[in-house]
Amino acid sequence: MRIVLMGAPGSGKGTQAQRLVERFGIPQISTGDLLRDAVARGTAYGLRAKAAMDAGALVADEIVLGIIRERLGDADTGRGFILDGFPRNLAQARALAAMLDSIGKPLDSVVLFEVDYAEIVRRISGRRTCQRCGRVFNVHTHPPGSPPHCEQCDDHPALVQRRDDEESTVQRRLQVYEEQTRPLAEHYAAQGLLRVVHADAPVDEVTARLLAVLQP
Ligand code: AMP
Repeated sequence: MRIVLMGAPGSGKGTQAQRLVERFGIPQISTGDLLRDAVARGTAYGLRAKAAMDAGALVADEIVLGIIRERLGDADTGRGFILDGFPRNLAQARALAAMLDSIGKPLDSVVLFEVDYAEIVRRISGRRTCQRCGRVFNVHTHPPGSPPHCEQCDDHPALVQRRDDEESTVQRRLQVYEEQTRPLAEHYAAQGLLRVVHADAPVDEVTARLLAVLQP
């Protein structure tokens, strides 16, 4: 199964990607996570990506494509993968198609998570991340304690708000999504690959809707 999950920041695609990982045993490939990891490790890609990420802008295609090309070459993608947060513009979508065509493994489907704008702002403002394991919690839907801490790590480290989840950056990210990423829905619809999931619902309900649209 080779799928792309699309949706505005805060639409829940990362959470749903984790559900699919548990169910199908294929990896989640999040370019946001890969870029944050590159920044934390101070790699050449990371050093170049940081300013764009802090500003809520897209990182240069060349960097993102380099990271994706490396990741798709890993052995664990043989049975499939879930792309989360990639592609984010038409050039990336075309480059992905070329990469997958060259190995004879095209995409099976592209899922678009639709969520109301006000709900997105509420979700992102409540989002807190564990700096150790990277897991994401939400103070509105999954109270992680006071002070907020990670329930997955043994020593319960404190959760932090990602810098690009701060309100001014969120507005910028939503604008970038509307202008550059959302139009990909038409691109994939024209190829018969698009599935739409209305994601204004509790997590389990969204998972059920997601599994329904992924049925062959
Ligand atoms: P995310 O965790 O998916 O919201 O991504 C966080 C940030 O990483 C984005 O705001 C961008 O700056 C950058 N980023 C992630 N994926 C991409 C991509 N496919 N293309 C360009 N920039 C990306």
